Amino acid sequence: MHNVVIIGSGCAGLTAAIYAARANLKPLVIDGHEPGGQLSLTTHVENFPGFPEGIMGPELIDNMRKQAAKFGTEFKAGVISDVDLSQRPFKIIAGKDSYEAKALIIAAGASARLIGLPNERELIGHGVSTCATCDGYFFRGKPIGVVGGGDSAMEEANFLSRYASKVYLIHRRNEFRASKIMIDRVKANEKIEFVTPAVVDEIVAVDGSVERVRLRNPDSNEKREIELHGLFIAIGHDPNTKVLKGKLEMDANGYLIAHHGSLTKTAGVFVAGDVQDHRYRQAITAAGSGCMAAMDAEKFLEEHKD
Ligand code: NAP
Repeated sequence: MHNVVIIGSGCAGLTAAIYAARANLKPLVIDGHEPGGQLSLTTHVENFPGFPEGIMGPELIDNMRKQAAKFGTEFKAGVISDVDLSQRPFKIIAGKDSYEAKALIIAAGASARLIGLPNERELIGHGVSTCATCDGYFFRGKPIGVVGGGDSAMEEANFLSRYASKVYLIHRRNEFRASKIMIDRVKANEKIEFVTPAVVDEIVAVDGSVERVRLRNPDSNEKREIELHGLFIAIGHDPNTKVLKGKLEMDANGYLIAHHGSLTKTAGVFVAGDVQDHRYRQAITAAGSGCMAAMDAEKFLEEHKD
């Protein structure tokens, strides 16, 4: 029996763990399928207060983990396969392991979206990637493509230009969602070519590795092929809430709904980070909401000492 189980080990989950641990609640963090969350897949973080020179995402999240462990947080590897929130203590199942919790903080984050092409998933690790930091190095001296028009796509394109011989920034519209400063950086980068408007119709692989993509102009239907060896998909994220469907209130896109800070309509269940936030989605806002969830859980446990 745990006082607090925290699902997810990204910025929100670990901040919740630091606060819960310092409140002597001995929280248990269940890592999830992407330990460290999105910060572990990012490069230079320039907007987290307190780091005037910036800090690498993996280093920042590693520091948070050490800080949470220092105050007595327990960690378990595992991916949640089911939960029973119908009564307290709540039951949390992660494969063969099961846990009971008096209070539950859900900070399961959001995962990278894929385009939906038939061979896309099987080519992950063979030329298709959702993480420039993890895989960029494999494409040294080779042409690659980045799909998307938001800040992630701009950031990845810039980062990948360090390795690749050429980067094609493939986006379905001529307008970009990304912030002006990010677009300007990409425009100033001679290695990056904008390919817009273009949708990826097919990823062509030879002997199991990506060789080129077939693109279509959605306005004119004109087709084009580009030779590239890596395709980085940076088209946003989906919340990791599949196992919670029908068990907690969520919006049409699957994001959990928080009331009055981190509260859900199920007493004792709190939410934090990107799993409940499709608007801000920043490390600092995730950390803030993790702090709120831990404080709300602490107050709840104080008031329910059964
Ligand atoms: P995003 O802002 O939601 O952008 C997703 C992009 O992918 C859009 O351009 C969208 O096109 C495109 N897209 C979506 N589905 C697609 C599909 N099926 N096929 C092709 N294209 C598709 O996501 P994001 O770039 O990951 O950013 C998420 C949030 O994190 C934003 O708030 C962003 O500012 C923030 N962020 C900040 C930084 C930073 O400041 N350093 C870095 C990364 C992310 P449309 O525009 O046509 O819909």
